[in-house]
Amino acid sequence: MTAHKVVIIGSGPAAHTAAIYAARAELNPVLFEGFMAGGVAAGGQLTTTTDVENFPGFPEGIEGPDLCLRFRAQSERFGTVIHTETVNSVDFSSHPYRFKTDEREGTAETIILATGATAKRLPVPGARDGELWQRGVSACAVCDGALPGFRNKPLAVIGGGDSACEEASFLTKFGSKVYLVHRRDELRASKIMQKRVFDNPKIEILWSQTVEEAKGDEFLESIVVKDAKTGDLKELECSGLFFAIGHKPNTDFLDGQIELDEDGYIITAPDSTQTNVPGVYAAGDVQDKKWRQAITAAGSGCMSALEAEHFLATRE
Ligand code: FAD
Ligand code: NDP
Repeated sequence: MTAHKVVIIGSGPAAHTAAIYAARAELNPVLFEGFMAGGVAAGGQLTTTTDVENFPGFPEGIEGPDLCLRFRAQSERFGTVIHTETVNSVDFSSHPYRFKTDEREGTAETIILATGATAKRLPVPGARDGELWQRGVSACAVCDGALPGFRNKPLAVIGGGDSACEEASFLTKFGSKVYLVHRRDELRASKIMQKRVFDNPKIEILWSQTVEEAKGDEFLESIVVKDAKTGDLKELECSGLFFAIGHKPNTDFLDGQIELDEDGYIITAPDSTQTNVPGVYAAGDVQDKKWRQAITAAGSGCMSALEAEHFLATRE
């Protein structure tokens, strides 16, 4: 079996940017885009959103799924072979490395891991798929916060970590006020982020409260919150509900063969996408718990392809 030079696992901006660079370098990349891997359609997290307004090159904005199709078309244009299959397992114990899907197995000299992360959501009644999800309910304030439906309206963020504090602060630029709904009576966030929240007069923290229901016809109109200590329920006018309760990186299939941090993100060398396994690179949200944007994922995808190219050239 001939080893592929570059196998890319994933299908978001990181994977396709890696594919474009690897294909243009004539490395004949093969990309496994997944089939609802991690609960996300091929194309990645952007398939789950409407307007993307912060990706350069689209001054009028672009629909998330449309942008994903363009990434894919650009990869194919330069000859990337794309399989709509999820990689179930890899074996990095000897080189070339092995990988397996339900339909095939193969070997690769270099592998780029770009399997992203999935924003955690809560199954709040009214906020689920087919209900008000993406109609006022979101898991990314930085991405969706500036949409017109949220302007000058009360908004709410669930969570008590750095993301929740950052997102609540960010949303005060758009909303009339922002509720930070946290299940405990102390924040997990760093002191500096906490201070930013405490000092912001537009943020009201709802301590020890949980969101029990999201209500609205076409778009979110209110939320019902429950006081964990008294059990009291309260309905609040609210046009935007943002989950900021953490992400889960899609790394389970690696089965302990790559060094991960305590939250399951792949560890890469500083200023590099190199993992602890030579010739295996990680790009995008699967190795980035801080920035988590399409453009940063694309940037690291570019780096990973250039690093793979360098690795192959050195071996030759
Ligand atoms: P992802 O987009 O996470 O894609 C990874 C892909 O790999 C997924 O399709 C997954 O199914 C697949 N996969 C996983 N495991 C496997 C496997 N074993 N085999 C094969 N395939 C696999 N960012 C912005 O810059 N602007 C925005 O406006 C914006 N809006 C957003 C809106 C929402 C609702 C969300 C959730 C995120 C938004 N983001 C936005 C963030 C942005 O989507 C992510 O930062 C970006 O998509 C990360 O890209 P990625 O390439 O790392 O992976
Ligand atoms: P965290 O895991 O730090 O925080 C998640 C928050 O969500 C916690 O407050 C947790 O509550 C709450 N939560 C989790 N599950 C539920 C649930 N089922 N119901 C209600 N609430 C829930 O995730 P973050 O995304 O905030 O941060 C991840 C990492 O990224 C951290 O290391 C953080 O420091 C870093 N980061 C740094 C930033 C910065 O420096 N600017 C910005 C953003 C992130 P509880 O506290 O009760 O467990």
